[in-house]
Amino acid sequence: MKKNKIIIIGGGYAGIRALEKLSKDKFNEIILLDDHPYHYMQTEVYGFIANENDFSKITVDLFTLCASFGSHVAFHKQKVTSIDFDAKKVMTDEQSYDYDYVIVAVGSRTKFFDSIIGLKKYAHGIKALYRALYFKQKFELSLFNKIEEEGTYCKALNIIVAGAGLSGVEIAAQMASFSRDFYKENNFLCRKLTIVLIDACERILPGIDDFLVAASIKRLLELEVIIKDNRKVIEVTENSVSLSSGEVLPMDFMIFTGGVEPKELVYDLDVLKDRRGHIAINEYMQIEGYENAYAIGDCTAIYNDGILVAPTADVAEQMAELCAKNISNSSKNKKLEKVIIKSRGILIALGRGYAVGKIFGFYVDGYLGYLLKKVVEKVYSKRLFLRSGRGSKKIFSKGA
Ligand SMILES: Cc1cc2nc3c(=O)[nH]c(=O)nc-3n(C[C@H](O)[C@H](O)[C@H](O)COP(=O)(O)OP(=O)(O)OC[C@H]3O[C@@H](n4cnc5c(N)ncnc54)[C@H](O)[C@@H]3O)c2cc1C
Repeated sequence: MKKNKIIIIGGGYAGIRALEKLSKDKFNEIILLDDHPYHYMQTEVYGFIANENDFSKITVDLFTLCASFGSHVAFHKQKVTSIDFDAKKVMTDEQSYDYDYVIVAVGSRTKFFDSIIGLKKYAHGIKALYRALYFKQKFELSLFNKIEEEGTYCKALNIIVAGAGLSGVEIAAQMASFSRDFYKENNFLCRKLTIVLIDACERILPGIDDFLVAASIKRLLELEVIIKDNRKVIEVTENSVSLSSGEVLPMDFMIFTGGVEPKELVYDLDVLKDRRGHIAINEYMQIEGYENAYAIGDCTAIYNDGILVAPTADVAEQMAELCAKNISNSSKNKKLEKVIIKSRGILIALGRGYAVGKIFGFYVDGYLGYLLKKVVEKVYSKRLFLRSGRGSKKIFSKGA
């Protein structure tokens, strides 16, 4: 039987899940390509920023992970620069690969809108690990500088989070909770920290259940996060943020989580895209016009009854599972399955030891919600850590 050459581009939630499923069939010869050597668990970045984790806990090494599947799986740390869908070739910054099937799973990146003056220059994103690391260090340094000011003057530290979707809300709550504990534990006098969460929509967490929104707002207010919804950021300078309401807020540093856009590879691909620039796919997740090419996760968009499904790791994984099934069916000339996404639940981290969520129709909040979120995360990361031999002393020989 002829082997299937499968190229997976992107080792995020979608790419890894597809790899796990496809690698079960030894007739699949799989190459995973990613420009980073690690799988970055973005859903756990809130704990990283709050010093609950270091970056080793939110990353999985892709070389060791792929090696664990057997000799039919390989990982190459290379950036994909283009795809020739007609010739069935993937080009990277180093070489080109032929494929029978390709899966594009390159995710998305923070969109720093050109129309907002100064945004790109002065605001930070957290979608890439190096950005999250930079932000965490800057945040801690700012807290430290506040302490240094004790006994002289005590100026407020002003943090702006623009964009109150899942990631903006989690980050704002986590910073507020972390700094509250930080000041309390050390009994510092200079405790003036202002966190302002800005959103262009009428209410925070668009697309999320009313009960969860209300519970999140209550918790954010308890943490003294100032919520300013229904107004847009129009200009950012080194130390201020101007809003469409006419307000000018003082700013020491700013996180922007107000928009995402496709990665540069997607911009360059000559395929059909939706109005936001994401890869257009059919009901089987094939890229329009190419039955051997699939797109999954945040680089594409999926609709249930005409409504855009919010891009999450859960959605990316469900797409990946079905994509793997369809590749297997296609190679055996079987019927393909249509994509239907069912939300398995949502858990929103709102500071240390606190989360709200809805799992299989049941609401949870407070410490129980937090514990559940931790369990979900642990189940995910533990599976990958075990596979990649995390903790084992046998992986590298001396001097390697
Ligand atoms: C702060 C934050 C909190 C979140 N919280 C949650 C949550 O609680 N629950 C939830 O379900 N979702 C959450 N999400 C959303 C979730 O992280 C994304 O939906 C998920 O990461 C999408 O997975 P993906 O595989 O499509 O993309 P990604 O995970 O972004 O992976 C894309 C991969 O492609 C690689 N890549 C990109 N371009 C190239 C190229 N040219 N060549 C080779 N490789 C390339 C990248 O290096 C990356 O490894 C959160 C996101 C953020 C930022």
